[in-house]
Amino acid sequence: GALTASMLRDREGRPDVSIGMIEDITERKEVERMKDELVSIVGHELRTPLTSIRGSLGLLEAGIAGELPAEAADMVAIARQNTERLSRLVDETLDLERLQAGRVELNVRSVTPPELLQSTAQVVQRVADDAGIELVWEAPADLQLFVDPDRIVQALVNLIGNAIKFSPEGSSVRTIVKAHGSEALFTVRDQGRGIPLDQLDAIFERFRQVDASDHREKGGTGLGLPISRAIIEQHAGRIWAESVPGEGSTFRITLPLPLAKPPIAVYDRRAP
Ligand code: ADP
Repeated sequence: GALTASMLRDREGRPDVSIGMIEDITERKEVERMKDELVSIVGHELRTPLTSIRGSLGLLEAGIAGELPAEAADMVAIARQNTERLSRLVDETLDLERLQAGRVELNVRSVTPPELLQSTAQVVQRVADDAGIELVWEAPADLQLFVDPDRIVQALVNLIGNAIKFSPEGSSVRTIVKAHGSEALFTVRDQGRGIPLDQLDAIFERFRQVDASDHREKGGTGLGLPISRAIIEQHAGRIWAESVPGEGSTFRITLPLPLAKPPIAVYDRRAP
């Protein structure tokens, strides 16, 4: 910041000195950049040791050191769980950082909504079955989207995974796609605990979780929604949350539909 001082006179003509800080935007950006760089360096540096820890744990589990006493096997299992969680955190942190820096190239191709929902179902169906939650899908096949399917599926998996995590057994999660003007509108609706209205925006920020215990109990990283938002925004779409607390949450995504017809040619009759 830059220090500024200004001298004015008060009503009685006495000098009135005020000193203030003008926040220096370039300096703040520099701090942001350094923070991102630190995250990136730490992330990359953690990858190699994590791979090594994973390998060693795998060997222990495979019995390379002989049959482990039950207590030791439990400890290895706990170490394994935490290693997986740390790996997820590192991978997602680096992914978000690359997305936000615009360093992720989209592999765009033409797909229909049912194709996207099928790939998504392949990932989340088992999780839903284990949680006793019914997944309902609805999508028109006559809609063409021009997107990176892997990335859109990643965002949908995040939303539906959350819906499953925060919903009671026996409830259902509906994913519906519709054409809405010049956009495709994706809706993921659950019958879970819902989200306090004053946090509907905040949950899209890094590491924001409604409940501190969400982290421990649900095993989340707090990066799923920021990553999803970065993916959707890179596709020139929007993503937001709605909720009736206690009754459920609804997440919506819009993606621009490709122009159906080529733009109309304009002729200038005055041209020679
Ligand atoms: P994570 O799920 O890994 O904690 P996210 O960024 O995906 O991180 O979500 C952030 C937080 O938003 C969650 O921890 C939870 O508190 C809240 N949240 C997200 N989706 C839902 C949902 N469908 N129902 C209730 N709360 C949700």
